[in-house]
Amino acid sequence: MSCVLPSACRWLPATTGKTASPCCDTTVPSSCESPPAHVLVFDLDDTLYLERDFARSGFTAVETHLNDKYGNRVSHGTCWRLFIEGARGKIFDLALKSFGIEATPSLLDELVQVYRSHPPQIRLCPDAYRFLATDRRRRAIITDGPATMQRSKIAALGIEESFDCIIPTGELAKGMGKPHPMAFEQIMQWSGELGEMHIYIADNPAKDFIAPRALGWRTVQIDRVGRIHSPDATSSEHGAELRINTFDDLSKAIELAH
Ligand SMILES: [Mg+2]
Repeated sequence: MSCVLPSACRWLPATTGKTASPCCDTTVPSSCESPPAHVLVFDLDDTLYLERDFARSGFTAVETHLNDKYGNRVSHGTCWRLFIEGARGKIFDLALKSFGIEATPSLLDELVQVYRSHPPQIRLCPDAYRFLATDRRRRAIITDGPATMQRSKIAALGIEESFDCIIPTGELAKGMGKPHPMAFEQIMQWSGELGEMHIYIADNPAKDFIAPRALGWRTVQIDRVGRIHSPDATSSEHGAELRINTFDDLSKAIELAH
């Protein structure tokens, strides 16, 4: 079930579903107060929802596809078991081997396409839902990954209308994904605020915080139970200023960050 967040008194998204910069209408409904100047910018995967849930529904779609194609030698739950066991990057190869199916490049490409295009069975983390339902600051998303896949996740979560600006870096020129600063610079062009007025909330120190820190943004790491990536930064430039385990602590973290 998708969660639909209250949209009354939100800044109105003008080009949701389109590319960014300038990506948003700054019209505010007359009955609403202007939101605070701070701009909250969120990552998507393992920040607003658990990426493993997307993986699980994607594996189900892939195994259903294989079952339709090759019959009942395909054992459902195989890819998920491999994922739980820590296999990364070659789950489909290993699963096909266990099914006795040759992992040709064209079949692997086909399965990746099924995985990326399947209707995601995902939902907001409950604490993310609580925060988004009550916080009134301007908000945006910067997310890496194939743009169509990231857009379908946002649609499945039912949050498209709850964000003022959405930048899937897959819609930018090649090589502009994190840690490239392009998406963060576009957010600043949209907001019209100094870097220090922005806060990036994300989960992956390997790539999420380098660019916003260099631009003077504040940074908060969300370290969720069930996350995929390591929460440990390999250098001070990679790390966030603050780390929280739940969005129930995000308002307090934002106060500390300023
Ligand atoms: Mg992430």
